[in-house]
Amino acid sequence: MRYSIGVDIGGTKVAIAVVDADGKIIEQTKLPTDLSISPRELIVRINEAIEHLIKKSYIEMEQMIGIGIGAPGPLDSRNGKITCPPNLPNWVDVPIVAWMNEKWKIPIRLENDANAAALAEKWIGAGVGVNHFVYVTVSTGIGTGIIADGKLLHGRKGNAGDIGHTVIDPSFGKCTCGQYGCLESIASGTAIAKRGSDIMGRELTTKEVFDLYQQKEGAIVELIDRIFRVLGVACVSIINTFDPEKIIIGGGVSNVGATLFNAIQDYVSQYALNPTGRTTEVVPAKLSQGAGVVGAAALCFEVMSDSE
Ligand code: ADP
Ligand code: ZN
Repeated sequence: MRYSIGVDIGGTKVAIAVVDADGKIIEQTKLPTDLSISPRELIVRINEAIEHLIKKSYIEMEQMIGIGIGAPGPLDSRNGKITCPPNLPNWVDVPIVAWMNEKWKIPIRLENDANAAALAEKWIGAGVGVNHFVYVTVSTGIGTGIIADGKLLHGRKGNAGDIGHTVIDPSFGKCTCGQYGCLESIASGTAIAKRGSDIMGRELTTKEVFDLYQQKEGAIVELIDRIFRVLGVACVSIINTFDPEKIIIGGGVSNVGATLFNAIQDYVSQYALNPTGRTTEVVPAKLSQGAGVVGAAALCFEVMSDSE
């Protein structure tokens, strides 16, 4: 059996796992993303954690085919650099692959986290056997990983698919990026909590806003129905652009379940441009826990071997 190591760097924690060639997690651990220390120091801690995991799993180094790293964008996956992610403010131009290669003499690959999650879905999730799909994460932000013609779409530096900053409806106001009405500023978990809290005049979590929606709280119903429409608009644009077989939605907000999926599917069935587009399935991601590390580990395996 061959194994790889997945490292998922998030804004709050780094998840690390030894994963086998079937996508099964053999050993895993977590450490806090300590932003009070330098990226160099955190990478030393990550290396120590990897060393510890390898020992604990009793797997020979010869069986480890590589290390895959998933990290928030923007990054430069071709040159193995994390460039300027808003969630990791002190990680500016960090050549993480080169630094980790000082310790590990196996191939190390870097991808943005949405791309890694898309690969995990392709490998062992809702994208198995599907050569055209778009994975959309609706979480703290909104991002996508695009599998087009059986390949992960990278773009120039590995940042393709950053749909969160596509303008959908400027009347929703200014986004952190400076534009008005970006998808992420309307429909991410963060945005939903903020908009719901503003309406109700008290601090609410995203889940609490959806609970009020289920309880048919008038102003919240209006808000969420608009947000569902906005997510539908985004999915129609994705369908019209990439002609996928499926849209797979993951991320914390996808836990809302059927209400969200039905609303988006309904919008897609009416407004996608071509008749086959209108039948595009909108389905939940299969991997929730562990999608990040499994996707990172997937970077080392030939997940696309069944491509057209
Ligand atoms: P991250 O963005 O760090 O990867 P998640 O994918 O878990 O994290 O997304 C976090 C977002 O999802 C938060 O805005 C959170 O409020 C929201 N969320 C988590 N669980 C639910 C739920 N059951 N219903 C609605 N929103 C949820
Ligand atoms: Zn924006």
